Amino acid sequence: MARYAGPVCRLCRREAMKLFLKGERCYGEKCAIERRNVPPGQHGKGRRQRLMGYGLQLREKQKVKRMYGVLERQFRRYFEEADRQKGVTGETLLQLLERRLDNVVYRLGFAASRPQARQLVRHGHFTVNGRRADVPSFSVRAGDVVAVRASSAKNPAILYAMEEVKGRGIPEWLELDGQALSGRLTAAPTRDQLNLPVQEQLIVELYSK
Ligand code: SF4
Repeated sequence: MARYAGPVCRLCRREAMKLFLKGERCYGEKCAIERRNVPPGQHGKGRRQRLMGYGLQLREKQKVKRMYGVLERQFRRYFEEADRQKGVTGETLLQLLERRLDNVVYRLGFAASRPQARQLVRHGHFTVNGRRADVPSFSVRAGDVVAVRASSAKNPAILYAMEEVKGRGIPEWLELDGQALSGRLTAAPTRDQLNLPVQEQLIVELYSK
């Protein structure tokens, strides 16, 4: 699956917020949002435009896509699936994104960022319910156990990320067993449990035009 391969800090500057795409650097003073929170590009030094209507909806959609590292076509498919399911479409959309395997690996603290989680998954360092899983978009279900493979237990990137996550914490809809290097999704997260600075209703409005 295709992915964005350009400089990532400019994505945060475009959205005027931290998207946490670089791991440890995002929490320090080297973060581009801390140093230079202006839009990217040669006209970026001017004031940010005040957005309304379509512009606001578009930025919200771009923000969420970039946060989870999903490109347009796949994001659209997530929306269509959320729209088909019962419940509040915006909340379901966020649940589908949160249940991606790369996101669960990141949330459990086995990776320092979602892009790193995606790479670690692709390289086959994880199992789901005991079976090797190397597709980042794999949808983890309630009760599924995501674990670091025995052969990857000493992977420095995973061990480093696990140290780092102690300050970040694990969301309440996941259970981590640090000794076994595994975690379980207890239930799909509710909107209240997702501490995301996102107005998902704007995305629903955008796609419902
Ligand atoms: Fe975004 Fe992280 Fe870069 Fe800061 S360091 S701008 S949070 S990717």
